[in-house]
Amino acid sequence: MNATGLSTDQLNLQARARELAAGPVTNRAAEVDRSEQYPWDNVELLKDARLLGMTIPTQYGGQGKGWLDAVLAIEAMSAACAVTGRIVVETNMGAISAVMAYGSEEQKKMAADMVLSGDKPAICITEPDAGSDANGMTTRADKKGNRFVVNGRKHWITGGGVSRLHLIFAKVYDEKGTFEGIGGFLAIRDETKGLKITKREPTMGLRGIPEAIIDFEDMDLPPSALVIPPRGLKKGFADLMNAYNSQRVGAATVALGVAQGAYQLALDWSEKRHQFGRPINEFQGLQWKLADMSIKLSAAQALVYNAARSGEGGFPDMLLAAQAKVFTSESAIQVVNDALQFFGARGYSRELPLERMARDVRMFTIGGGTAEVLRNVVAGALLKKKLPQTRDGWDKTTS
Ligand SMILES: Cc1cc2nc3c(=O)[nH]c(=O)nc-3n(C[C@H](O)[C@H](O)[C@H](O)COP(=O)(O)OP(=O)(O)OC[C@H]3O[C@@H](n4cnc5c(N)ncnc54)[C@H](O)[C@@H]3O)c2cc1C
Repeated sequence: MNATGLSTDQLNLQARARELAAGPVTNRAAEVDRSEQYPWDNVELLKDARLLGMTIPTQYGGQGKGWLDAVLAIEAMSAACAVTGRIVVETNMGAISAVMAYGSEEQKKMAADMVLSGDKPAICITEPDAGSDANGMTTRADKKGNRFVVNGRKHWITGGGVSRLHLIFAKVYDEKGTFEGIGGFLAIRDETKGLKITKREPTMGLRGIPEAIIDFEDMDLPPSALVIPPRGLKKGFADLMNAYNSQRVGAATVALGVAQGAYQLALDWSEKRHQFGRPINEFQGLQWKLADMSIKLSAAQALVYNAARSGEGGFPDMLLAAQAKVFTSESAIQVVNDALQFFGARGYSRELPLERMARDVRMFTIGGGTAEVLRNVVAGALLKKKLPQTRDGWDKTTS
């Protein structure tokens, strides 16, 4: 055990991940951002290092690792390249963990094989008119005989155009048009007819992973595609949100890793850069900034590790995951911004990674549940109350 309570195995995993991150992943990070190309070379490295699909149970070819193990790998990768960190998130958490928890044997085998061979699954919830209010989604799956026919549009889908496996959420209606709840379906790009990648979003940061609009046009699915059944009103979606707590911890970890990387650069530079005849870290204004940055990072890391630990044998606790994501995403933006300031004009140059880190880290108070909406989650858990955000009489879930 050590200060962070990591086991010997976890320290070894962390050291391995850090070594990989410090080499080729660091070297390629600027090019991944500039070219806006998905880093398939890094996917191969992650695969060889057995960092993809670590959390998949051993009977499906994974290593049955815990959330904290995945967090250690994500943290290390993200300090070098946030895009690569996100690939580790999405091959260990989110959609793949939902399939592993709720899928059939056949679905689990298929998803595990795809992830372990390098596919980063996409999770499709958000729509142009249904963001924070995901229950307001209008994508629908109509039962027709023994099939489901899916129609609708999702946007801001991470991996749209590179991911093959898609977990798609839609409102399910029976043959008579009665609403049954929100269900999750598996579809495979280039195999499932009717799944169309319509447009890539031009993003501020995290440019190595496409964010896309995806349209479903009479997408015809067999019953075996249903991975999270609606099970009555809202239940299917509740299962998804349970699995999504792991993704939130993962997203918080990427923000943490980016901020740690930026902090380290600032710390090193503060010793090298001299002004007024002394290293700039001899000025109290910067010493206190370093102190504040390190305090935020330590607190964020404790929240993230704690949330990850809460999920052993299941999914991370909703309250702890939301607290970790809110605090870490907001602190990471501040830490990266402060780190950039240490470099003066150089920090503003595209020749250094600080400006990329500032663009990348900005995302994490938005994607996967905004900081505002997660504060609602925290408040609801503390008050043990449902906190409906809709006006009285407004219930789109049954529409
Ligand atoms: C890079 C990136 C990747 C993403 N990847 C995916 C993905 O893979 N799959 C997917 O399904 N989605 C994805 N998303 C979408 C993301 O989950 C949504 O952007 C997010 O849920 C917010 O929805 P919205 O953008 O529509 O904002 P809106 O819901 O329109 O919110 C606008 C503003 O209003 C605030 N707000 C809304 N409701 C409330 C409330 N009740 N209380 C207080 N404030 C409120 C929000 O916090 C925000 O500040 C991604 C987004 C980004 C930026």
